[in-house]
Amino acid sequence: MQEKRLATDILIIGAGPAGSSAALYAARAGYSTILVDALDFPRDKTCGDGLTPRAITQLKTLGLAEEILDRYHSKGLKLHGFGGDITAPWPDGSFGDQGSAMPRREFDHLLFTKAQTEEAVSTITGAAAKKVEFSSSRISQVELSNGTIISPRFVIVADGVRSTFGKLLGRTWHKDNVYGIAARSYCTTEYSHEQWIHSHLELTSPDGVTQPGYGWIFPLGNGYANVGCGALSTESRPAQINTKKLLSHYISSCEKEWGFGDPENIASALLPMGGSVSNVAGANWMLIGDAAALVNPLNGEGIDYGMESAEYAIGILDEAKDFTLMWPDLLDQHYGEAFLLARTAAKLLTYPRLLDYLGPIGLRRPLGPMLMPAAARLMGNLVTPEDQDLIARLWRSAGAAIKRYSAAPTLWSSTVPTR
Ligand SMILES: Cc1cc2nc3c(=O)[nH]c(=O)nc-3n(C[C@H](O)[C@H](O)[C@H](O)COP(=O)(O)OP(=O)(O)OC[C@H]3O[C@@H](n4cnc5c(N)ncnc54)[C@H](O)[C@@H]3O)c2cc1C
Repeated sequence: MQEKRLATDILIIGAGPAGSSAALYAARAGYSTILVDALDFPRDKTCGDGLTPRAITQLKTLGLAEEILDRYHSKGLKLHGFGGDITAPWPDGSFGDQGSAMPRREFDHLLFTKAQTEEAVSTITGAAAKKVEFSSSRISQVELSNGTIISPRFVIVADGVRSTFGKLLGRTWHKDNVYGIAARSYCTTEYSHEQWIHSHLELTSPDGVTQPGYGWIFPLGNGYANVGCGALSTESRPAQINTKKLLSHYISSCEKEWGFGDPENIASALLPMGGSVSNVAGANWMLIGDAAALVNPLNGEGIDYGMESAEYAIGILDEAKDFTLMWPDLLDQHYGEAFLLARTAAKLLTYPRLLDYLGPIGLRRPLGPMLMPAAARLMGNLVTPEDQDLIARLWRSAGAAIKRYSAAPTLWSSTVPTR
């Protein structure tokens, strides 16, 4: 293996939505950037492929929204279960009222190739970042599996849910917090242009037990729908399910209505959520996206947070700053309250039978049609500090209250010494 030495302003490790977006924001800010991924593109990623209005807002900023929305756009969510069906349009708030969905093989490739068009961005694929060296607490060198040695001023770690490079830096996942286990597949359907995404909140195992999770059908506008299911779990109350079996049971229960073909490319994954990791930053490095567990515990979506965190991270780069405390604080300001509320609600749902009591109230008349559109907005975290309506103000007050009285630490903070 031939050793090659490179220097750059920013090294970005991982070219998923978080890493490629970081490269695009870095190019805009005038930094030289090397974007590295362990795999070659296009590559698949186990996901529901759903793009919320939050993600569309990011894509608008990056100039990619039109291309994606032209192909397929969603108007909102249809929720089913416990004898009820409720339609919850995307709220017409700060994020706009359009969502979409695109297979990750294509979506990630689109972002990656857009980053490649930037003169300031060089890409290296098929090579994993595997070794790190420090000089006075700053990362001074990173070695790739192909022998390349890179000397960066800053390192953005966007290496996804397992975060193998993040672990070298001390990233720790707190499994006592709620996490997701999920499986997805692709099914042909004549309804792939249906403009509502569908969620079944009453998810039962083949033996009829209600699971703390939900099933989804996200039409893709290309003859297929992404069909999947996810369950919530904690170390003390692990979901006792086989997600792939649960998925095939779910698909057969919707098969007739949707005219599904045989499920293709079934894959499952674990999903740390709600910021349940610590040691996410050091003097000149920051973890973003799934590496920092930036996934909404109530619906499992994280593409939007990956892209947003990329923008925030690039926005604060400055050699005079040390990110060790600054980055967890910034994440806490943006997501702390919402994720703490969502983690608390998601944890409650892991108690056996709670859903059997709450589900019928939430989804049936008379309360369901009043409650669920607001609940869908809150589950999607589609509330911003600018929103001044009653629901937004109640949500923010609840977030502030739970934060004040909760004993839960700010999870992103460095709780074990970092280098
Ligand atoms: C079943 C399931 C369904 C989901 N559904 C949705 C959904 O519908 N909508 C939504 O918004 N979110 C969804 N999510 C979450 C979403 O997939 C993630 O939040 C999103 O992929 C995060 O993007 P990322 O860029 O942080 O990480 P990733 O997309 O995982 O990208 C990380 C990249 O880093 C690379 N890498 C890893 N290690 C190294 C290394 N050492 N060196 C170099 N490269 C490395 C990997 O090859 C990969 O390309 C779902 C997740 C699951 C598991």
